[in-house]
Amino acid sequence: MLDQLRRSVFDVLIIGGGITGAGVALDAAARGLRVALVERRDFASGTSCSSTKLVHGGIRYLPQLGIGLVREALVERGLLLRNAPRLVEPLLFVLPIYRFNRRPLGLRYVPPAGPLRLGYLELGLLAYDLLAGRRNIERHRRLNLVVVQDIVPALRTDGLLGTFGYFDARTNDARLVMNVLASARRHGATICNYCAVIGFERSGGQLRAAQVRDELTGEEFTIQARIFVNATGIWGEEIERLALGASTVHIVPSKEVHLVLPQERIGVTQAAVVIPETSDGRLLFVIPYEGRAILGTTDTGAGPLDDPRADDTDVDFLLDHANQYFDVGLSRADVISAYAGYRPLIRRGVAEVTAQLSRSHELIEHESGLISILGGKLTTYRRMAEETVARIQRRLGQPVRHVTARLPLVGRERLEEAVPEIVSLAQQLSVEESVPWLLRAYGTDARSVLELAAEDERLASPIVPGLPYLLAEVVYACRNELALRIGDVLERRTWVLFADRQHGLGALSAVGELMARELGWKPDELACQMDTYRQRVLALCASEQGIGASLAAT
Ligand SMILES: Cc1cc2nc3c(=O)[nH]c(=O)nc-3n(C[C@H](O)[C@H](O)[C@H](O)COP(=O)(O)OP(=O)(O)OC[C@H]3O[C@@H](n4cnc5c(N)ncnc54)[C@H](O)[C@@H]3O)c2cc1C
Repeated sequence: MLDQLRRSVFDVLIIGGGITGAGVALDAAARGLRVALVERRDFASGTSCSSTKLVHGGIRYLPQLGIGLVREALVERGLLLRNAPRLVEPLLFVLPIYRFNRRPLGLRYVPPAGPLRLGYLELGLLAYDLLAGRRNIERHRRLNLVVVQDIVPALRTDGLLGTFGYFDARTNDARLVMNVLASARRHGATICNYCAVIGFERSGGQLRAAQVRDELTGEEFTIQARIFVNATGIWGEEIERLALGASTVHIVPSKEVHLVLPQERIGVTQAAVVIPETSDGRLLFVIPYEGRAILGTTDTGAGPLDDPRADDTDVDFLLDHANQYFDVGLSRADVISAYAGYRPLIRRGVAEVTAQLSRSHELIEHESGLISILGGKLTTYRRMAEETVARIQRRLGQPVRHVTARLPLVGRERLEEAVPEIVSLAQQLSVEESVPWLLRAYGTDARSVLELAAEDERLASPIVPGLPYLLAEVVYACRNELALRIGDVLERRTWVLFADRQHGLGALSAVGELMARELGWKPDELACQMDTYRQRVLALCASEQGIGASLAAT
């Protein structure tokens, strides 16, 4: 792979392996361009694994009158539901409105009191349905108390004015990135993780090559290309400075935190819940996700970009709001894990509050051959890629041809036809409980994962008892998804790090040994990799109780 990067001249080199870079790689490769992508850490290790996991128009943008933004995202939601079935799936959202809510959904002014307030909000939901057009999932509706108590038994009902149900979609963000990258590779893109762009070579005012460092060996080399795409999200200014000497954009990173909770403690299993108002004028989501519930987000200022962390204030803010709306008495002891991410908001005007900065993307084309595509949403990655690659084609003097609106991701074509065979294979291996996860994560390639388990029955065991992730996935990730470190498998190819109370530490030896066999690690390399993972867990969970004890026992 590295040889190929060194020797070829690419039409386009994409810098950054989050959802934005992955989307551009797929779109460009599907149009027949020679494409390379480099990511300095693991794929999806930036903002793209720290999202709320929604593929949505964003009801919270309606009060800000972001109609164009919402419409664009709703169209993309419809396309993703079709092109990535099971990986992107419809989800009912329960939106309760209470008498004490003054500005629900982040409204800028206080709407009329009493039942009129419900009518007012209903107009917003009607607009949300209409903006989705023929791609709407289902129309919103009012939910009566019996239904609400059935779906969300722990939701407080005192002071409840009324409840709406509306539809959006949920995904697994890191798996979406892996699926888009796998699709790009099948269209011929050369893709590499742990390779950082550290500089550029120019001639005649044009960028000719990127200087790249292999982060695993320290070796440096150059990659030649005609166009360079900066898809580095919150690090976008850095690449602009390396390429142009100064950055033309200013990114305002806004830290947002989610908590991972046991579903049974908060009683959110079948539908998501919108907490309609926070003390800082926003809304929160509680999303049933991979057998857990995620609660988020906070919206606070910046910190170290490479290492966003949840602190006690973030955790308490979220728990306090959950306890205000759910009759469950959550405490820090209930938190399984927490994750933080920075939203790449682009500053264009004078807005000071990050919640009010634009969520739309910026496409900046420079004379030198650098194109920066920054900001935006997970939901709109395909649209962002389409615009970017259209610019690239124009620049290369090619006719512009859009191809991704009807392009299913890899493993998603005729998925339902393949399900009976996959279920039957899983039954033979007694792992049928993993089937929903496998179909979501791999589509029809779930068959390949199960075949690994059929060849070696030890691989049919779960990585962690009680979670759906199989040891076969460790092998699959090394062979097919460029997993090179233990965290690549436990944090992004699967979700063990966040879903497991022990954060995968109990499975560390088993996973490490499998990876050592696949990747040819010597014993000292294996020990070093295991230690790196332990340090990652320690850093992530520094504020949690009991982690030190489990580390000592491992
Ligand atoms: C808390 C939170 C919740 C969100 N929830 C949602 C949601 O529910 N739905 C939704 O649609 N959107 C959501 N978003 C927005 C969405 O997650 C982001 O817009 C999107 O993930 C950004 O992707 P990206 O690829 O641009 O950036 P990133 O995912 O950060 O990728 C950039 C990559 O560039 C790499 N890189 C940096 N420098 C270099 C270099 N020199 N060389 C090589 N590689 C480099 C980084 O390592 C990184 O992997 C959320 C954002 C946040 C913060």
